[in-house]
Amino acid sequence: MRHFDVLVIGGGSAGSVLASRFSENADCQVALLEAGEWPNDPDIARPDMWPLIQGRSYDWQYATLPQAGTANRVHPWPRGRIVGGSSCLHAMAHVRGHQDDFAPWAQATGDQNWSWQGLLPWFIKSERFSQGASAVHGADGPLDVWLPDEEVHPLVKSYMQAGLNQGVPWLGDHNTGQLCGVAPNSLTIRQGERVSAADAWLKPALKRSNLTLLLQTQVEKLLIKQHKIAGVACLIAGEAQTITADTVILAAGALSSPALLMRSGIGCASELAALGISCQLPLDRVGKNLHDHLLAAGNVWLARQPIAKTRLQHSESLMYLDSADITRRDAQPDIVLGCVCAPSVAESFPQPVAGTTYTLLCGVTRPTSRGQITLSGAGSHDKLLIDPAYLQTEHDRQTFVKALKIARKIGNDAALSPWREKEWLPGETVQDDAALSDFIARAVITHHHPVGTCQMGKTAQDSVVDGRLRIHGLENGYVVDASVIPTITSGPVHAAILAIAESFAGRFR
Ligand code: FAD
Repeated sequence: MRHFDVLVIGGGSAGSVLASRFSENADCQVALLEAGEWPNDPDIARPDMWPLIQGRSYDWQYATLPQAGTANRVHPWPRGRIVGGSSCLHAMAHVRGHQDDFAPWAQATGDQNWSWQGLLPWFIKSERFSQGASAVHGADGPLDVWLPDEEVHPLVKSYMQAGLNQGVPWLGDHNTGQLCGVAPNSLTIRQGERVSAADAWLKPALKRSNLTLLLQTQVEKLLIKQHKIAGVACLIAGEAQTITADTVILAAGALSSPALLMRSGIGCASELAALGISCQLPLDRVGKNLHDHLLAAGNVWLARQPIAKTRLQHSESLMYLDSADITRRDAQPDIVLGCVCAPSVAESFPQPVAGTTYTLLCGVTRPTSRGQITLSGAGSHDKLLIDPAYLQTEHDRQTFVKALKIARKIGNDAALSPWREKEWLPGETVQDDAALSDFIARAVITHHHPVGTCQMGKTAQDSVVDGRLRIHGLENGYVVDASVIPTITSGPVHAAILAIAESFAGRFR
């Protein structure tokens, strides 16, 4: 049986940061356990391929339960089963969020380390920003963050101009703490290729002799003994093994981390009993508070000129707005728009021919719908029941309608007239709020940001981990990944997950 000082479960975005930072201490023996393999598909590196690599062998290929709020549709949820995790599948947009997004984190834990000011040094530490260092940016970190300029697609430039014509402020950079306005997306791309979290943090660290990476290693269960995680039971290339450690950190992501806790007997006692799992530690919030961003795909336009292929990643500028007044600069945005220079529609509608349409995506930045993850059985082969409860609140439905109306307004601006033939979706006959809401239910797709299933907080009644990300009731067990986020950031969540992992590793005692 092997023993390590620190065991990190999951070699994805957060796991890559953790393994790298903990192994900086040469006296610390670190093991990183990853269910998948080392990436060997050249398409992963190609930014334009990101929508097409889903469903391959290195995708867990999850799916939600049918969603009452989205016309009973089942939504595919890709997740990376590979070193680098979902950072090998993601769309490479790097958006920290609005500074006020983090205030509820600090409030939930009573710990200012989770405020914007508390996290800022870790955002800075993580990045190598293409425009150099400043009060809010770092230039020496592991992760390339590139702010494109001329490379942005001409159609996307027209959409950005359309926003400016309508009074939307120029933002320029999504990562300063302010978010209202229009900016090209900052991208985790270096010399035309994707930079995954594994490329940035793990690869350079693997030369250290105190870091062991175990591939094809699926953790089945945590072994709980006297308020501690003594170790893990895992399958290594199909063979059952036990690995023990002094400190165990779950970084298996927002779906797998709560699933692993529940399979190990940590969760709501009555729900575990119904599955025949003996409860080791009652913790009612495990798997609860699941939430995600949706995007309506969307406001689709027939193009009057052929649209050339992207040189980047199809959707090259997110525009964050206060729907009550899109000219406001100082607000915490409640809606987001994006422009996709390739066909982008939900599966409910026919797929257009490449080069003939473009889509203005729209979404709600801070949804209030909350769902949950539960197990269908005790084994790791039993399907996860994923219920994000999409569009279950009046707030989410109404804000979506506002977002779609604003997308249309921008889509009709003169700056887009060289591109615009006419609106295809929702179509000119779809105008009143009820009809727009019905269209949105059929048009929304995941923005791929599930969070919240092991949320941070003060007590075992309101959360799963405390402000130090320690699992309530366990002395040496932690969760550090997307699942600890108590309320989603306004933008894509990857930058925040990396900063959480940096902060945890940097402050660990
Ligand atoms: P992951 O990176 O998913 O890592 C979890 C790791 O744990 C995986 O490697 C997995 O194989 C491993 N694992 C799971 N269970 C076990 C087990 N039992 N034993 C061993 N290993 C296990 N975010 C953005 O900010 N910008 C974007 O543009 C963006 N686009 C996205 C597009 C797509 C298609 C997807 C899928 C995601 C996107 N995201 C984006 C979201 C972002 O990539 C994720 O939120 C983030 O990578 C999650 O990090 P994590 O560390 O929590 O989990």
